[in-house]
Amino acid sequence: MIYSYTQISQYLRCPRSYRYRYLDGWREKDTRAAMVFGRCFEKALQACFEQEDPSAALFKEWGAYRDTPFEYRKGESWDRLVHQGVHLLQKFAQDGRVSIPDPKGNLQLKLTRSLAGGNEFVSYIDAIGELDGKPCLIDWKTTTSRYAEEPEGLLSLDPQLICYSWISGISDVAFVVFVRKQLPEIQYLKATISEEQRREFGRLVESTIAQVESGQFSSHSGIRFPQNGCVSCSHLGLCLNNQQLIETNLVRRPGASDLDWLDELTD
Ligand code: SF4
Repeated sequence: MIYSYTQISQYLRCPRSYRYRYLDGWREKDTRAAMVFGRCFEKALQACFEQEDPSAALFKEWGAYRDTPFEYRKGESWDRLVHQGVHLLQKFAQDGRVSIPDPKGNLQLKLTRSLAGGNEFVSYIDAIGELDGKPCLIDWKTTTSRYAEEPEGLLSLDPQLICYSWISGISDVAFVVFVRKQLPEIQYLKATISEEQRREFGRLVESTIAQVESGQFSSHSGIRFPQNGCVSCSHLGLCLNNQQLIETNLVRRPGASDLDWLDELTD
């Protein structure tokens, strides 16, 4: 069995949701414009490091979805997203804070790690390069709101960065966050992950897999105002037996878990 960060975090959020997705095959429909745009933007970033025109790459990638009937958030459109994307790419080039030596070998790396019982863990790392001249593992994020930066050190608790540090063995990690807002902004957020954090994450992976393999899929509904995790859960229709919600949000595609890493591209 192959596990990923998305699988482990989904189980920890709600084991019932994990069962719906990974055992029963209920996936969220690929109609979220932001997620698809995030994928296109990442291709444009890649072009940036390969000495190609990143704006042209963005137009080419995102252009393929011009007539796709996506669900856009209020105030968003195909044009607005591409405009924000080009602005962010220009700002990124002007900042000049990230360099990727050997982009062919250091962008979108697939890392694997063997686990007990013949299982395997796989991660796709966006980039290994330098931020402000210091070697570091980098994860790109496209989002509509800024990441919290306070209190100091907060990012070192981010489970996705801890996971990537664990699988790569690299202590210095960073999110480069492309914020699509009125005035586009890029956050360069650095963190250092300790050896103890990596060991702890390894134990968390093993104990989570043990619970999956022993068939523990009770619901963690988290119904508590104002942080009600069920409201943003794509599987809400299944829990409420609401056919309309199921048809709106989900598609049943058993065995599609190999694509779940795509969700890690956006926040
Ligand atoms: S709707 Fe709530 S209880 Fe049901 S799967 Fe989602 S998070 Fe879990």
